Amino acid sequence: MTEKKKVVALLSGGLDSQLAVRMMQEQGFDVSAVAIKTPFCDFDCGRGCGFEIRERADDLNVNLKTVYLGDEYIEMLKHPKYGRGAGFNPCVDCRSMMFKAAEKHMKEIGAEFIISGEVLGQRPMSQHAPALRTIEKETGLLGKIVRPLSAALLPPTDPEKDGLIKRENLGMIKGRTRRAQLEMAKKYGIENPPNAGGGCLLTDPAFGLRAKDLFSHTKTPTINDVDLLKIGRQFRLDEQTKLVVGRNKDENEMIKAIALPNDILLESRDHMGPVSILRGKNAEKFIELGSSVTLRYSDAPREEKSYVSISKDQEKNEVISECAKEESYIKYRI
Ligand code: SF4
Repeated sequence: MTEKKKVVALLSGGLDSQLAVRMMQEQGFDVSAVAIKTPFCDFDCGRGCGFEIRERADDLNVNLKTVYLGDEYIEMLKHPKYGRGAGFNPCVDCRSMMFKAAEKHMKEIGAEFIISGEVLGQRPMSQHAPALRTIEKETGLLGKIVRPLSAALLPPTDPEKDGLIKRENLGMIKGRTRRAQLEMAKKYGIENPPNAGGGCLLTDPAFGLRAKDLFSHTKTPTINDVDLLKIGRQFRLDEQTKLVVGRNKDENEMIKAIALPNDILLESRDHMGPVSILRGKNAEKFIELGSSVTLRYSDAPREEKSYVSISKDQEKNEVISECAKEESYIKYRI
């Protein structure tokens, strides 16, 4: 028996990438999946695009390799060569990094080419024909990336020219409607197909503003800075200092876990309320403001003074403060 030819699939967990895998399996390929995590997309943010990636891979009966793009992703995000979309999303550069990771896996396992669930014209920044081309050129993978759902509408790829795949078996899907994909999901027995993903956190307008603020004030943000960006009410106090105020118990716990030795944590001593964090060069200077904002979001009585517990690394202190008036701090909100 001849061995099946291998291909590598970029798997996001969304419906389109699952369909791409199914199409290639149907055509006799042995598909291995690569899933890419970034600081802004860990499949687990609840936006519905790619969580449960392991289960999806098991359903598809494919091996799964997960690749984490961390610091190098942040480095790229400082100055993405191909710019950003409507949020802070550098989709073309991001996809290029993902395909480079897939290429590495392709070489490691001796696969023939790479597939992805991209659909022509589905996403404004990275899935129109010139962008697909740019990504191929940028990665040096011209002709090596097959988008099975739309491939019959795109120029022939190397595997098509080499006779490994046939045009009549490739899809002609384009645009944002998902009717064709839902029909295919039925055909392939994919139950409860996931909703169309909206992209990663960087496409979210509110998060985009926070990210923009961070990257314009910090030369090289760390993963820890990014994790802090995902929670709480955020305030930019000066060029080098931020205040983040937890919105619920989980966020309060996360703020405590994220805190570094130079960060200052603030919490109402006697009333239920948020944990806040002051981060940056002038954190000490803003203890008074941070305390009053922390009280403002707590159950502390509005017109009375209350104690706020302050901790920095192992040091603990208390200050007396009163609830901030909204007009005194809202201008700092990001
Ligand atoms: S939406 Fe986010 S994860 Fe998807 S390509 Fe754009 S930047 Fe990358």
